[in-house]
Amino acid sequence: MISCLQEDKVKLQEELNTAESIQQCLGSTPPSQGTTDLEKHLEILVLENDRLKQELNSSQLRFQQLRASIPTCTDCEHSKENSRLREQTSVLRLELEEKTRLLSELEQHLKDVHQDRTEREERLNKRIRDCHLALAKHPTPGMKFISKKMEVESLRMKQDLEEAQSRNHYLQEQIGIQRQLLTEQEQQLQGSWHTSAQLQAQIMMYEAELEQVRGEMLAALQVMEDEKNQTIEEVFQHARSEMKTVHDNLNGVRMNLLSIQPALKTLTSDYNCLKNHVRDFPCLLQDAVSQTKKEIYQAVEEANGINQDLLRKYKREMQLRKKCHNELVRLRGNIRVFCRVRPITREDGAGLDNRNVVSFDQDDDAVLCISHRGKTSLFELDKVFQPCALQVDIFREVQALITSCIDGYNVCIFAYGQTGSGKTYTMEGLPDDPGINQRALQHLFGEVAERSTDWDLSITVSMAEIYNETLRDLLGSDPQKTEDLTMRNLLAKDPSEKLEIKLSPDGSGQLYVPGLIQIRVQSVDDINKVFELGRVNRATDFTNVNEHSSRSHALLIVSVTGINLTSGVRTVGKLNLVDLAGSERVGKSGAEGPRLREAQNINKSLLALGDVICALRSKQPYIPFRNSKLTYLLQDSLSGDSKTLMMVQVSPMGKNVNETICSLKFAQRVRSVELGAAGRRAESQLCSSRQECELESPHSAIQQGRHNYPGGNNVGKSTAGKRRLVASSEVTN
Ligand code: ADP
Ligand code: MG
Repeated sequence: MISCLQEDKVKLQEELNTAESIQQCLGSTPPSQGTTDLEKHLEILVLENDRLKQELNSSQLRFQQLRASIPTCTDCEHSKENSRLREQTSVLRLELEEKTRLLSELEQHLKDVHQDRTEREERLNKRIRDCHLALAKHPTPGMKFISKKMEVESLRMKQDLEEAQSRNHYLQEQIGIQRQLLTEQEQQLQGSWHTSAQLQAQIMMYEAELEQVRGEMLAALQVMEDEKNQTIEEVFQHARSEMKTVHDNLNGVRMNLLSIQPALKTLTSDYNCLKNHVRDFPCLLQDAVSQTKKEIYQAVEEANGINQDLLRKYKREMQLRKKCHNELVRLRGNIRVFCRVRPITREDGAGLDNRNVVSFDQDDDAVLCISHRGKTSLFELDKVFQPCALQVDIFREVQALITSCIDGYNVCIFAYGQTGSGKTYTMEGLPDDPGINQRALQHLFGEVAERSTDWDLSITVSMAEIYNETLRDLLGSDPQKTEDLTMRNLLAKDPSEKLEIKLSPDGSGQLYVPGLIQIRVQSVDDINKVFELGRVNRATDFTNVNEHSSRSHALLIVSVTGINLTSGVRTVGKLNLVDLAGSERVGKSGAEGPRLREAQNINKSLLALGDVICALRSKQPYIPFRNSKLTYLLQDSLSGDSKTLMMVQVSPMGKNVNETICSLKFAQRVRSVELGAAGRRAESQLCSSRQECELESPHSAIQQGRHNYPGGNNVGKSTAGKRRLVASSEVTN
């Protein structure tokens, strides 16, 4: 028994020791440690909460102040932004309130936990004490269980505390976020307030400006009002003075009326008197008319006399003018020689042979120089056209000659030069830049129109070709081949028919070509049709058209017939435009057969032309017209007071230099033949001394003094060469 009790005692003792150690453990960990941390946390949270509440209150206060300071505007963007922010703030506030409530609940919970724990502690302490007492009395194994339970509860409490701490931490974060949001909203609020302040300042500025403008307007209105009043006053004054004048006038008129009444009586009596006169008027009028008629007849007779006198004077003046013109032409020389140098074209190519050998004297447009074999030969003519000269420049120089054909003169223009030197270009030209032929006809049309009030003028043209001394009409055409009906009837003729030149049977000594077609032209269209026909005919029967055209002379013969509507004087003028065959010396290159014949014929006719011109210029008694078909045909256009122009064409190329020099020598010799006028003779002598000729003349017979042609027709003095001026009615001088 005693041993059992002792065992129990030992057990209790052990239990007591264990309890004591537990107590010591509990005691060594200050019993209030967990509680103190929680309390501290709780206190911090409470403080933080208080601070937040205070901040919230102060923010609300500031917000209200700001709201009060913002001017009320309802529709602007800022007010909308404001209300949006306000709504956000109220939502945030609600959230904050919710969180504050949660915080206070948590606080309450913590308090409860704390209290619960305190109670438990007390209860535990009490039990420990009880245990101690019980142990002291009967130490039991239930002690162990109690201490175990306490451990477990203590752990649970710790977990609760951690939970409470984490929740507290979460709440603090939330509060931080809310505070940040609040700060942002404050900043936004500040921005809106700043913008609205700016807007208000602008509004005030505008108002001030408006006020100023209103003030200015009022001032201007005032000025206008003053002016208006002043004007009204002035007008009123003026009207009053005018009224006064009108009144005065009215009084004057009244007085006049009174004084006029006797005058009216006088007038009435005068009127009655006039009435009587009018009754007698027809008789008086008849007398006056017959008297006036007499006077008019007398005046008309006088005018007629004066007119007759004027007409006589006019005719005398006309004759004097023509005499002067003839004298002028005689002094200038009826035969003139021009030279045209064609430009270098692409077809000329390049190379040593193709260098330019022609140069000009810039101060003298009648001189040109040719460089050849290291020497420079100088040639003097009436005018030299440089390569840059245009068709219109050439025409300007020959225009006066062409006009004189309307006055009844015969005119010849020849283009002379080697093949390829530009003869056809100068005479015919290109379709878009015509030469002398077309321009001459156009010019004549213009002159005809201008003179139509005084003259009835008509222009006819013929086209002929001289090839191998045979004359051929270029306007004759096979009726079967002519499409144009009017042309078909007009020109029905064999184009290859040879024509003869005959003396006119009327004994006038004039030459004519029977059967040579003459076409009346009135417009550029007509000319073009005629030219085209001539071109087609010239090309027919020849395979190489260009070669053929360079070996034949082409003639465009324009006749202008005019009748003066006042005097009845009839004039006939002829214009011959000749594109001569190439002047190159083919005969020297050993040509044979038909080619040699062609060359001989060309040489013959050009030689004859040169001889005729020389004889004419030196006023020889004998002119060898009959030496060629060309000169024979043109006889009446070369002699008498006819006018001749030789356009010598040359190429500027080195390869053509021999032919160029030949052509220029021919030109110069033609020109330097004695004219009869002293001035010209001196000039020609000067030319000869300046000239340095090396080469032979192309047509060697052209020399001064050689004029003994057999069968020549001495028409230099004949009536055939005289200008045709025939009076169709008696002219009183
Ligand atoms: P020709 O009738 O003397 O044989 P062309 O009139 O047929 O010579 O001229 C030979 C070439 O030189 C042609 O192609 C022509 O267009 C050209 N030509 C001649 N003179 C001129 C000029 N003044 N301006 C421009 N081209 C020209
Ligand atoms: Mg030609």
